[in-house]
Amino acid sequence: MTLAEAVVAGAAPAELASLEVPTRYRAVHLRKDEVGMFDGQDNDGQDNDGPDKDVRRSLHVGEVPMPELAPDEVLVAVMASAINFNTVWSAMFEPIPTFAFLERFGRTDPRHDLPTHVLGSDAAGVVVRAGQAVRHWRPGDRVVTSPAYLDSQDPMVQHDGMLAADLRAWGFETNFGGLAEFAVVKATQLLPKPRHLSWEEAACNMLCASTAYRMLVGERGARMKQGDVVLLWGATGGLGAYGVQLVRNGGGIPVGVVSSPEKAALLREMGCEHVVDRSRFDDLTDEKGWRGLGAEVRRLVGEDSAIVFEHTGKDTFGASVYVAKKGGKVVTCGSSSGYDHTYDNRHLWMRLKQIIGSHGANYQECHETNRLISLGMIHPTLSRVYPLEKAGDAARSVQLNQHVGKVGVLALAPEQDLGIEDGRLRERIGEERLRLFRV
Ligand code: NAP
Repeated sequence: MTLAEAVVAGAAPAELASLEVPTRYRAVHLRKDEVGMFDGQDNDGQDNDGPDKDVRRSLHVGEVPMPELAPDEVLVAVMASAINFNTVWSAMFEPIPTFAFLERFGRTDPRHDLPTHVLGSDAAGVVVRAGQAVRHWRPGDRVVTSPAYLDSQDPMVQHDGMLAADLRAWGFETNFGGLAEFAVVKATQLLPKPRHLSWEEAACNMLCASTAYRMLVGERGARMKQGDVVLLWGATGGLGAYGVQLVRNGGGIPVGVVSSPEKAALLREMGCEHVVDRSRFDDLTDEKGWRGLGAEVRRLVGEDSAIVFEHTGKDTFGASVYVAKKGGKVVTCGSSSGYDHTYDNRHLWMRLKQIIGSHGANYQECHETNRLISLGMIHPTLSRVYPLEKAGDAARSVQLNQHVGKVGVLALAPEQDLGIEDGRLRERIGEERLRLFRV
C-alpha cells in the first residue's frame, strides 16, 4: 500500500509513519520555461479582441520531485484544496512571475528555486511526517492550513506575524503549495480541521476567511463594532462572502455589492438585507458614480458606511473613499481591477477618514477564524468542486469572475463529502446553510 492509499483508507498514525514517502507526487504547477508565454495578451479576455492570458494554458498537472522536510515543517497528504485569486495572478505571471519570488527565497532556502512552481495557498489533509522541531502535530492529525509562511524565531512574530521581515504567502511566494497530493508547510501554519466539514468544505476557508477576519475584526483592521454599516465589494466572492458573515455575526449591518440579480438573490439568502447591484451604475470611477452609490447606501440604510471592505482596487477605490462616512475607514487587501488607484484626497482629509492596508492574517487571527468555523458560526462558501486534473478549469472560472464563493479542488480525496466526523453539529447547522453556495 502506498502512503497516499493509506491516508485515503484512514490508516492509523503508526502505519502512516511506517510507509515510505514517495519521491515524486502529482501537483498543479507552473513551468519556468513558460514565463513570457502571455506577453502582449489581455488579462481576462473581456475585450474579445484576441487571445487572453488563459490560465488553463499555464497551469499544468503532473509529477514533481518531493522535497526534503526542514526540522520545523510537516508534510501534509492533501485531501482537498481551493483556488485563490493568487493562483490566478501566478498563472498569468502577473504582476511579476512568481519564479522571481522563488529565486529570491532560494538564496536562503535553495529547495524552493526550481523550474516548477507548485501553487495553492489552502489545503485540508492529514499530517504524514513532522520534522524534529515540530512539537504540537504528529502523523495522523487532520488539519487545515493557513497561508502565512514565516520564521517563528523572528522577534516581530511575537508582536504580529504579518509584520515579520520574511513573511511569505505559501504556495504563491513559496514552492510546494496546496494544489497537490502532498504539501510542505511550517508547523505554525497548521490548525485542526473543523470536524463537521468534508475535506473540500474544510479546505476552502482559511485564506479568505482569515483575511476578512483581520480586515474587519482584527486589532490592526477596521475594528468593526455593533451597529456599524459596512459596505462590502464583491460580497458573494471569495473574501466578501466571509466578510458578510463576519459583519452579521458581530452585529454590524452589511451592505453587499454584487454584479447580477442571481448574486443579489444569494446575498439575500445569506441574510444580507441591503444589496447594491453595481451593474446598474454606468461608471463608478467618477464623482457622479460615487454620489450615486452613496445615495443608494443612504436610501437602503439611512446613513453612510462606517467601514468599506475593499479588494477590488482601481475601479472602485475612489468610490470607497467617497462613500465612507466622516471618520470612517476603508480597509483594503487587494486590487483585482488594478493597483494604481486614484481618489479625491479632499474627501479623505476634510472628512477625517482612514485607509488601512491589510494582508492575510497572523496565526492567532487564523486560530480565531478557525474556531468560528469549527463552532459552526462561519460557514464554507464552497460553490463548485473540480478534480485535480481540472484545476486549470477551476482557476479559469475565477479568472473570468464566473464563480461565486470559493472554488474547491479534490486532491487525494477520491470523491466529495468524505472526512465528516461530527454529523450532529452538521445536523444542527443544517445542510441548506452549509451548501448555500453550491451550484
Ligand atoms: P473573487 O472570489 O474573484 O471575488 C472578487 C469579487 O470582486 C467578485 O466576486 C466580483 O463580484 C468583485 N469584482 C471583481 N471585479 C470587480 C470590479 N472591477 N469592480 C467591482 N467589483 C469587482 O476574489 P477574492 O478571493 O475575493 O479576492 C479578491 C481580491 O483580494 C484579489 O485581488 C485577491 O488577490 C485579493 N486578496 C488579498 C489577500 C491578502 O491577504 N492581501 C487575501 C485574499 C484575497 P461582483 O462581480 O459580483 O461585483
